[in-house]
Amino acid sequence: MERRDFLRSAVAGLAISAAETSAAQRTPAAAGKKVIAIQIGAESFMDEGVEKVLDLLQEKAGVNALFLAVYDFGNGIAGRQLPGHPIPDHGKQEFPKFHGGNYCKIHPRYYKDTGINPQDTRAPEFPDIDILETVLPAAHKRGIKVYTWADDQIRRDLPNVNRIQEVDLQGRLVRRGCYNNPYYQNYLLGMTEDYMRSHDVDGVMWCMEANGALENALSYGPISCFCQHCQEKARKQGVINLDRTRKGLEVLSEFQNSCRKGTQPVDGHYVTFWRILMRYPEILAWEHFWHDGLRDMYKMIYAKVKSINPNMPCGWHIEHSSTFSHIYRAEREIREMEPYTDILKEVMYHNCAGERMARYINRVRPGAFGDFTNEDLLMEFEYKVMNFRERAFDEIPYTGFSADYVSREAKRAMDGAAGTKIAIWPGIDIDIPTQANHSSCTPAGTRDAVLAAFKAGVPGVVLSRKYSEMKLANLSGAGDAIRQLGLA
Ligand SMILES: [Zn+2]
Repeated sequence: MERRDFLRSAVAGLAISAAETSAAQRTPAAAGKKVIAIQIGAESFMDEGVEKVLDLLQEKAGVNALFLAVYDFGNGIAGRQLPGHPIPDHGKQEFPKFHGGNYCKIHPRYYKDTGINPQDTRAPEFPDIDILETVLPAAHKRGIKVYTWADDQIRRDLPNVNRIQEVDLQGRLVRRGCYNNPYYQNYLLGMTEDYMRSHDVDGVMWCMEANGALENALSYGPISCFCQHCQEKARKQGVINLDRTRKGLEVLSEFQNSCRKGTQPVDGHYVTFWRILMRYPEILAWEHFWHDGLRDMYKMIYAKVKSINPNMPCGWHIEHSSTFSHIYRAEREIREMEPYTDILKEVMYHNCAGERMARYINRVRPGAFGDFTNEDLLMEFEYKVMNFRERAFDEIPYTGFSADYVSREAKRAMDGAAGTKIAIWPGIDIDIPTQANHSSCTPAGTRDAVLAAFKAGVPGVVLSRKYSEMKLANLSGAGDAIRQLGLA
């Protein structure tokens, strides 16, 4: 789009949305209307003012739903811009030290046998406010829906956190909560109930980003979880031999490490990797067992939500790994998730995908994929297996991915959800930080990503990751698509 046209449509958009504001105030988003959600945290509302931010979100991008960051110990969705990256053209121009946690008042009656004290999880940034209480009435007055948006990261300095942590192959604590740990289950269920019973929310969304032992072994991450609860669950099921699982993962880990040091396996990297898998099929069983733990957690939260309000939508974030890792994608069959899923926010971050894909290839290539060059692994394996085609290995960090990637991923997700009740809401990249010399988002690129998603028939999008890192021009780029499609 020419700059002139862009300005014209941006101005037209402002006029339209200002005219429609009063209508939106009267009528909550009707069923069947496309959802334009945005991820946003407490800092933005506290720094810039609730009404002002809501005005701006409606004007720039026709936003009609908030994914309000109610709980996060990570600054991917909570907090201001990441330190070292340019602060966008709104909000406070400073980088305070981030702590994070729960941004709502905690009502202890909903928590029982949680191992940790939920009061210890309160975000110290805003000790006296409840972000749902602060934002919800103003949002509802405008017909904007509010979804709780919680990311279950943990902090190592949380008192008694060792009671809920995953444990790796060597017995070390991992910076993740274990989904097979009853304390952790109770904690997440208590928090879900607290949000629902204490506030008039419109939906419950959880972000749970984690991987199993095989995936992590191949990318040199922590090989977990071998906590007492996981071992006990596995023993009760009586299917997996734990000693053989440990042995197999040790062998795989040694293989990976030797490859990284330059050892050339006699029969090649990929053949040797498969030899280990066939000698120790327990590795695959253990991977599936880990993902079943996550699925069980989803099922428990879903059941809790529906027991409180059968009409309350409940859903999950499918992380960017689904773009890079065939193992992760294999464990995320959309159709299979229907009994415990109403909404899937499927990450399709087009711009940072270039940098992240290059990083993924760099990380996994030395071991099981060591027969390939980075370029071949990307062009001949990755793009073919994952079914999209973008630029060469050396280019993608500097170009990002195209709207065609969003289009293909949105179509895949829609095909996967066909015949189910699951609503696919792609996550759209607006200024997710990348390295200084790498590609960054543009208004036209953001517009095209949103257009691609809606052209694939999705019922909604989630502008991501957080308003506090978005430039207003790029948010307006998403708005251009929304206005072009007559959705705002
Ligand atoms: Zn465990």
